[in-house]
Amino acid sequence: MGSLTRDPLVLIVDDDLALLDALSETLVLRMAPISVDTCERASSALKKLAGKDYDAIISDIKMPGMDGLTLLGHVRETFPDIPTLLITGHGQLDLALQALRSGAFDLIQKPLDRDHLIAALSRAIETRRLRRELKESQEALRMHAAGLEQRVDERTADLKRALQAKDEFLALISHELRTPVSVIFGNIELLNKLGDKLAEDDKQAAMTDLRREGRRLRRLVENILALARVEYGVANQAAPVSLTRIVSQQVEWHHQMYPERPIDLQLVHEIAPVICDDFSAELVLGNLLANAEKYSPPAQPILVLVQADLESVVVSVRDRGPGVAPEDAERIFDPFYRSESSSGVKGMGIGLAVCKRLLEAYGGRVWLMPHEGGGSDFSFSLPMASVPQVPKVAKSSVTDMVQA
Ligand code: ADP
Repeated sequence: MGSLTRDPLVLIVDDDLALLDALSETLVLRMAPISVDTCERASSALKKLAGKDYDAIISDIKMPGMDGLTLLGHVRETFPDIPTLLITGHGQLDLALQALRSGAFDLIQKPLDRDHLIAALSRAIETRRLRRELKESQEALRMHAAGLEQRVDERTADLKRALQAKDEFLALISHELRTPVSVIFGNIELLNKLGDKLAEDDKQAAMTDLRREGRRLRRLVENILALARVEYGVANQAAPVSLTRIVSQQVEWHHQMYPERPIDLQLVHEIAPVICDDFSAELVLGNLLANAEKYSPPAQPILVLVQADLESVVVSVRDRGPGVAPEDAERIFDPFYRSESSSGVKGMGIGLAVCKRLLEAYGGRVWLMPHEGGGSDFSFSLPMASVPQVPKVAKSSVTDMVQA
């Protein structure tokens, strides 16, 4: 461990130039590889210390101007990790004691014993290395702890968001389930208690309510299940599916549920099957039709168009409602996104997200086209199960008017 890869760097401070040179020479000779800087004044030593990261300092204790003890004081204060060895004269016991009390790493007595000097300096350099390593380890630990703390904070925030989303989802679901369930129960009670006495029209109205709300409830549950299945990567079994069959079926059912709504179905009968599964194709179409029903005035017609190109089949559902504001156009395919304008209309904001995910799982897509003169034009495409040799788009396409 330890990131220091350079040679040890030592600073010697002594006003005795001869001693300075001799010391420097000795260190280079006996401790190589080592780098040695020298200076004659304590004040210039402080300047050098500010510019380089020294491993140890050797300083004479008695010097003109700032003495070794004062230099030691500054070093202890500003560079507390750099060990300082002080050179004391013979018999300067008081100074020696003072130096030790002030935090000198070791004392070197004059006349200098070179072995003692080398041993003391080696210890100082090693101590400096260990202190540096300790600091690096502490810093690494601190960073690691900070990283862990940040991850805990992020996970906690994720968890809080997930819990909040779960609460909102449950609130939304119970709110959305309440209406169809109470309509269904109300009508069952009505038919049960007063069935014989009810006029035929009232009976039919109750039955229509039951069927509408029953279908709404089923689609709601299917959407929730589909979203969960896609979320967990569970795919339905892909099979060739005839979209003309599914579209005709769904349009017919829609017409039975909402007989007052004009639906114009335009399709080409010999369109090749697409890669999908019945459940997904029905749910996608059911969602688009339900939206066209919910978001457009009752008397306005809905147009359902099935077309094909060489490789895919495109189904479009057009209504003449208020349309989708440009700022909502992208986001309406996100789960739980509902535009402000739809706040008065029942819904959970998952129908289009389910369409997008189910279709993408089969290499298809869904999109919204701005429609001239208002209204919404939602289309989806699915790849053909086998690309036909001859284009199937007949020049004279058959138009089925379920009801104009
Ligand atoms: P929901 O209808 O339950 O809110 P959807 O995912 O089906 O959920 O639709 C998301 C949003 O897209 C709706 O809340 C509505 O704002 C908008 N939207 C969908 N279809 C239409 C449409 N035919 N006309 C206008 N807005 C629509």
